[in-house]
Amino acid sequence: MKFGPVIDELIDALRILPGVGQKTAQRMALELLERKRSGGLRLSKALDTAMHDIQRCVRCRNFTETEICAICDDSRRDDGLLCIVESASDLLAIEQSHQFKGRYFVLGGSLSPIDGRGPDQIGIPQLVERIREAGISEVIIATNPTVEGEATAHYISEVINDGSLLITRLAHGLPLGGELGFVDGETLGYAFSGRKPVNE
Ligand SMILES: [Zn+2]
Repeated sequence: MKFGPVIDELIDALRILPGVGQKTAQRMALELLERKRSGGLRLSKALDTAMHDIQRCVRCRNFTETEICAICDDSRRDDGLLCIVESASDLLAIEQSHQFKGRYFVLGGSLSPIDGRGPDQIGIPQLVERIREAGISEVIIATNPTVEGEATAHYISEVINDGSLLITRLAHGLPLGGELGFVDGETLGYAFSGRKPVNE
């Protein structure tokens, strides 16, 4: 059934959200129109503002509305530790585990040549540049425990290994093939404390 172009466009636009198919998008659109007009306006305003104002932190590529993100700007965090993650959602998962008080670098996903994601596309040159800055003693590679994540971790450890840097990898308790964003904080905290050097 078609309602008209405006509602059809709303339903179509809602389908951009992860896990939202045609049926769910229809239900969301009609619910907003029937009962949640003010919530819908708030959502559209928040979306509009976020899409225009949120950019990548120039130091770590985390999302931020300022040039430098809050984590990079926090003087209480340890400059000696740099944790490499595949996405901002993985950064968020690690932050919520309260196990890590260093800095981050957010890659643009994992290496996957078949999908057109090589070192340049995921930000390896910026990462290498970031690591060259003085003061980093340990790099923790927290890519996902997937085939691509493992390959990415291996590639990074080869590229950044200069003999002086301690390079570690999250080890225990992470489900193979999983994503950090879906792992509970306790498991992630355990994986963090059990990280292992990869360049010995
Ligand atoms: Zn940052």
